[in-house]
Amino acid sequence: MESTELKQKIETLARWIFESSYLVVFTGAGISTESGLPDFRGPDGLWTRKARGLPIEQMDFSKATPNSGHMAIVELQNLQKLKFLISQNVDNLHLKSGISPEILAELHGNITKLRCEQCEFTIDNTGDEIRCPLCGGAFKPSVVNFGQPLPQKDLAKAYHHSERSDLFIVVGSSLVVYPAADMPRVALENGARLVIINQGKTPFDEVAHLLINEKIGLVLAQTVARLRELLAGKKKA
Ligand code: ZN
Repeated sequence: MESTELKQKIETLARWIFESSYLVVFTGAGISTESGLPDFRGPDGLWTRKARGLPIEQMDFSKATPNSGHMAIVELQNLQKLKFLISQNVDNLHLKSGISPEILAELHGNITKLRCEQCEFTIDNTGDEIRCPLCGGAFKPSVVNFGQPLPQKDLAKAYHHSERSDLFIVVGSSLVVYPAADMPRVALENGARLVIINQGKTPFDEVAHLLINEKIGLVLAQTVARLRELLAGKKKA
């Protein structure tokens, strides 16, 4: 049973997207739990299990498929509403779902990609040992591990678009890892509306203009359905 409160929140979100001219979406592991991938701090997250001494399953990310949350973000792109997507996820599900690489920054890399150590040129990992065609540098897995620097080009793009956003939607991130969690702060400072859709608390909950603690796939799918109505000229819900 859906609450009236949730319906009102979805209506508000759809209207804000309809009105926005520079929508930026930021995703964390929470969007991929509905694809069967673990997040970190959720009830069954990797760090939660580790903290409780529970076993951690080895996940095969390559078999995971995009869910309704990923697909709703692709619709925002196809409806010409999404200006940029920033993700902390390495699972490749945004690209698999049909997001254009030009509007995507993957701050923690991507399990299917290699990155040139020198110039950050990124290629699909085909298993072949090749040198960078641009600079002759060596390729390394693009996934960023703890303590390693983030890819500077993706990071710069993420800041660039966060600064310009008038609507910034956080999806499935607890916003505790820096500098990734800096993006909503930058967006707020530049006057954007901040929306958080996450099952769990974030340090930004108090300052968010809209907070939705519900299932991501459901919220995003219904929001996009309502957005389509608004774009078609239907004003009343
Ligand atoms: Zn290179």
